[in-house]
Amino acid sequence: MQLTQPADRHGFTIAIICALTIEADAIEELFDETYDRHGEIYSKQFRDPNSYVTGRIGRHNVVLCYMPGIGRGAAASVASSVRVSYTGVQTALVVGICGGVPNPSHNDKIYLGDVIISDSVIQFDFGRQYPGGFQRKMGVKDTLGRPNQEIRSLLQGLKARRARSDFQSKTSQYLQLPQQSGSHWQHPGSEDILFRASFTHKHRAEALSPVCLCFTGHREDDVCSEAVKTTCSKLACDENHIVRRRKVQDSSVSILIGTIASGDTVMKSGECRDRIAASGEENVLGFEMEGAGVWDNISCIVIKGVCDYADSHKNKDWQEYAAASGASATKAFLSIWVPISREDSPPRLNAPEIPRSPCFVGRATEMEELRSAFLSGGTFDRTLLLQGPPGIGKSALTVEYVERFRHKHKDIFWFDASSIPNLISSSSAIRKQINNKFPSTGSVGTVNADLFRRHTQEHQVAELWQAFAFIGSRRANY
Ligand SMILES: [Zn+2]
Ligand SMILES: [Zn+2]
Repeated sequence: MQLTQPADRHGFTIAIICALTIEADAIEELFDETYDRHGEIYSKQFRDPNSYVTGRIGRHNVVLCYMPGIGRGAAASVASSVRVSYTGVQTALVVGICGGVPNPSHNDKIYLGDVIISDSVIQFDFGRQYPGGFQRKMGVKDTLGRPNQEIRSLLQGLKARRARSDFQSKTSQYLQLPQQSGSHWQHPGSEDILFRASFTHKHRAEALSPVCLCFTGHREDDVCSEAVKTTCSKLACDENHIVRRRKVQDSSVSILIGTIASGDTVMKSGECRDRIAASGEENVLGFEMEGAGVWDNISCIVIKGVCDYADSHKNKDWQEYAAASGASATKAFLSIWVPISREDSPPRLNAPEIPRSPCFVGRATEMEELRSAFLSGGTFDRTLLLQGPPGIGKSALTVEYVERFRHKHKDIFWFDASSIPNLISSSSAIRKQINNKFPSTGSVGTVNADLFRRHTQEHQVAELWQAFAFIGSRRANY
């Protein structure tokens, strides 16, 4: 399929979100084409504070978002703003570097430069009120950010040995692209060293000053700020506490798929890292700070190169190499993710996040009822409410109807009715799309959230989050 440059911002369906400049730079190295770097072509919505670079990676048009800072809040704000300017974005890839769990399971090992791809995100948080350091806030986040079925299947397939091995080869191949253009993306050339989790990076032989926290602190992980800035070799971290080494010539990039732990604080304690990794059933592979913020706003996948072991010995030596490996894995991921063809579709402003079921059979009577409710008789406004318990197939039926009869409708809108606030925000986003596409019409497409609220209260629909309101109007209101 020949990919064309989108005519406007709404033609972009994938956002890539990076917190650090080196992460975004690494991604840009892997662009096949750059469309717009200063907003001259695509601009952005008024008051959207993000900066964007748009371009093409393989078969995908992507918008790269630079974050003004690190952390969950910044990530959440970038993710919500990108959806205002780039209303067609359905999936965000949070790309960059992270701290890795060196031994996440019996069978797996993680080395520096490996890449972690998340199929789920857990949130963790530190709190002074908790002796011993950390508290897991919640389990696996299974709400908004859960990747859609199409991506989940893709990730599941990648767990198979052969597919993963192909994916790794592809990643290594792409890694050469930035490395050829800049030596800073190369392997740092030093041994990959892992210290015992309980062995802290601190002044040991002598105190730096009378107030050196390494000596005056009461806990093993009390470390002075000067020690944090000093390398292991300068600090003379005792090599007897090294539990694993990997020589430069043995290095290669492995891909691991699993859970990433996302928090507001930088993880820099080996013991804390291992405790969190062992505390749930999710098989936590790494730690980072943006996934949870994005996940709260948009369907996302975290793809991050491991630049340290999330312990006190962490330093920046591996960051650029890890950023390049994370970016290369992102390109590899995009190369196997085949976009759903929309070539046959009539113009449509936004698309459902639920893919059409390949196993949809029967239900001819219901389909005919839907068809006749919308398409028989003259052109006038119609409303149809599909109701039923969760899992009965309301969404599948609706998606199938849309796929079969979309050519009969001018535009089709989906509203996220998982909650009243989501319904209101998605209806406002849709209103903006209409106004962008047909600026002369003024304020159109009013969505009556109160109507929905009344219905749901009347019928006491408890499981709102799976419900979708579907409105298809044969005669457009504009
Ligand atoms: Zn010190
Ligand atoms: Zn050290």
